[in-house]
Amino acid sequence: MRLQDKVALITGGARGIGRAIALTFAKEGADIVVADVNLEIAQKTALEIEGLGRKAMALAMDVTDYIVVEEGVNKILDKMGKVDILVNNAGITKDNLLLRMSVADWDAVINVNLKGTFNCIKAVTRSMIKQRSGRIISIASIIGLMGNAGQANYAASKAGIIALTKTVAKELASRNINANAVAPGFIQTEMTAKLPEDVRKKMQEMIPLGTLGTPEDVANVCLFLASAESSYVTGQVITVDGGMVMA
Ligand code: NDP
Repeated sequence: MRLQDKVALITGGARGIGRAIALTFAKEGADIVVADVNLEIAQKTALEIEGLGRKAMALAMDVTDYIVVEEGVNKILDKMGKVDILVNNAGITKDNLLLRMSVADWDAVINVNLKGTFNCIKAVTRSMIKQRSGRIISIASIIGLMGNAGQANYAASKAGIIALTKTVAKELASRNINANAVAPGFIQTEMTAKLPEDVRKKMQEMIPLGTLGTPEDVANVCLFLASAESSYVTGQVITVDGGMVMA
């Protein structure tokens, strides 16, 4: 049990990669807060976690609103007593070529992916500083490292998460709080299921390991970053992409 009695807050934890992280952490002994805009699905995931014998709390939380996030964190501190691990996973895409991208779609993606990550880090940091320990894991993307035609908003948001992670790691290292980013490649979730078959095929050809990843592949790296095994790792970006991006 690598996370025995730790409390983990996972944004966008209702489905996809966030759900896989929630279940993986629960199997390793953590109690989980599933924070999501979609409360109904968050409650379903919370029930699955309880089925694994851990405490779970489903929380309606839109990460774009700092007041909502702060209130949510206060509720968690009341009910669960602490937040040991924050996983910033909530994320959206609104793709279009730059010339066709609306300002509203730019703002929406930056607000959820980047501002949402800032909001959650800011809201949990005080309690982590007080307890003199914490782990912050933010889900970026390989697109934040290499760019991608049609994803200016998404690429900028994910590159922003990487810079934010490095800054937070430097600011909080002396308080025993580690901050790292995970950059998945192409993972089988509803986000990638929307892609046309020919695009999926092309992508697959670009992956040295030859297949799309699974949410569990990402969750396992998050588990490492949440556990004591990574206590000397901070400010890093770990890609989980079947070898697509090799620095
Ligand atoms: P999904 O769309 O499957 O899940 C995202 C979850 O986040 C959903 O439950 C969604 O709710 C929730 N969410 C959306 N907006 C907000 C918000 N404002 N506040 C709180 N929760 C919100 O995505 P994935 O599981 O595929 O992706 C998870 C993360 O991984 C994202 O950050 C994504 O960018 C990143 N990623 C994914 C890759 C992939 O190939 N799938 C590759 C690289 C990175 P709702 O159900 O209402 O939409």
